[in-house]
Amino acid sequence: MKISIVGAGISGLATAQAVLARKPDAEVVIFEADRRVGGKVWTEISPEGYLCEGGVNGFLNKIPRTLELCSEIGLTPLPASSSAAKRYVFSGGELHQLPEKPAEFLASHLLSVPGRLRVMCELFAGGTDNPDETLAEFGTRRLGREAFERLIDPMASGVFAGDATKMSVKSCFPRLHELEAEYGSLIRGLIKLQMKARKEGNKDTPGPGPGGRLTSFSNGMSALTDTLALRLGSRIHTAAPVAGISRNNKLYTLHMADGTDEETDLLILAVPAFAQSSILQEYEPELAGLLNGIEYPALSVVCLGYREDRIAPYLDGFGFLVPAVEQRSILGTIVDSNVFPGRAPEGYALFRTMVGGARTPQLGELPDDQLLDRVRADLKDLTGLTAEPEFARIFRHEKAIPQYLVGHAARLEAIERLLEKHPGLVLTGNAYRGVSLNECVVNAWKTAQSLVLHF
Ligand SMILES: Cc1cc2nc3c(=O)[nH]c(=O)nc-3n(C[C@H](O)[C@H](O)[C@H](O)COP(=O)(O)OP(=O)(O)OC[C@H]3O[C@@H](n4cnc5c(N)ncnc54)[C@H](O)[C@@H]3O)c2cc1C
Repeated sequence: MKISIVGAGISGLATAQAVLARKPDAEVVIFEADRRVGGKVWTEISPEGYLCEGGVNGFLNKIPRTLELCSEIGLTPLPASSSAAKRYVFSGGELHQLPEKPAEFLASHLLSVPGRLRVMCELFAGGTDNPDETLAEFGTRRLGREAFERLIDPMASGVFAGDATKMSVKSCFPRLHELEAEYGSLIRGLIKLQMKARKEGNKDTPGPGPGGRLTSFSNGMSALTDTLALRLGSRIHTAAPVAGISRNNKLYTLHMADGTDEETDLLILAVPAFAQSSILQEYEPELAGLLNGIEYPALSVVCLGYREDRIAPYLDGFGFLVPAVEQRSILGTIVDSNVFPGRAPEGYALFRTMVGGARTPQLGELPDDQLLDRVRADLKDLTGLTAEPEFARIFRHEKAIPQYLVGHAARLEAIERLLEKHPGLVLTGNAYRGVSLNECVVNAWKTAQSLVLHF
């Protein structure tokens, strides 16, 4: 029984690892279009000694599956420094520390007094008949416009680089949707869950955010994908793009871009939805059409290095997010050298700024000089930073993060119905039920579980 996996990002690599953990003698082959494995996991160390993450910056240590994977392959995770818990939102001309506790929220000036009172009224906010609300509709209905704009909208930027007026709340943030459905109120739900956690002696009490600590590795996120690739060895074929597929009796045939063919019993497409669409175009056009409807706006990651004595005291903590109402070019900045050790040479700091995404994809595609000008202008305006950067590196993602827009859940149902006609064909990756690396790893594990039935 041969299993072919297309795509050597974390989804493809973790699926291969999970299959082999269950069945060490399984015949597994991985085809990757790029010369490099890892996909959106993309660490680069500059000659000056800056460790830049061009894509994934880390994963939250709350979901055990990724940590289990790390221990399975002998990797030691590196949790973010505790000072990185301090996060900021830029609003009304200044940076406000994000409140972590209810008392801090009441004292914070991020929201006006009426805005804070409106949040308290969430306990009594009404429901809705709309089965697929946008994040903006949901946030405004439950917490008021101000809290939506200054708290919820930056969350959409931080995770999806998304547009909250188009994102489906139930697809993007199912936990929020479930809290309302179960408890009639987010605040009431959180209080009840916290009480339950305390009663059970669980120190990790649920809060409004996703919870957990950001985690990476001392030599960056590529340690994870490189280690997986090392273990998978010659099973991986790089610079091997798959152009299309066909099926004959029970076997699938992969049509490689170089004109050769590969036969396989089971086929796992662990590439982004637009690439799945192109691979499936001839074989199953209706499915290809549905997959191609999942949008991936452009996003650029701009890494800038500064001498530490030139930036202090502009920014401590993790970094800051910029709400859409502020109408700036940048989505937010992470001070990577505050988050993990070894991200910048001694005496220097590394800033990592996101530009583009669903609201302003055209900004993510600006030429280098204009992109740098925009980032520097915003950093100056938002944090007062005027120093010349000593180092710059831009990472471009023409198609970055899939957007779960209103209608996403219905699209997934239609995709699943069509897939029933194609036993042995599996679609995985971050286009469906979670964009985070953790969710890719969980899906990889589930895929391997389902494949066990075929062995
Ligand atoms: C800028 C950025 C920052 C992010 N930061 C975080 C973060 O800090 N934390 C987090 O949890 N998530 C983050 N994410 C999301 C995270 O990147 C993804 O969930 C995850 O890495 C996706 O992995 P994947 O394997 O599904 O897809 P990808 O990483 O996109 O891998 C797909 C692979 O398929 C290959 N491929 C494509 N077409 C073909 C073909 N025809 N034939 C063969 N191979 C093909 C590609 O070359 C690629 O290697 C970020 C995403 C971006 C863009």
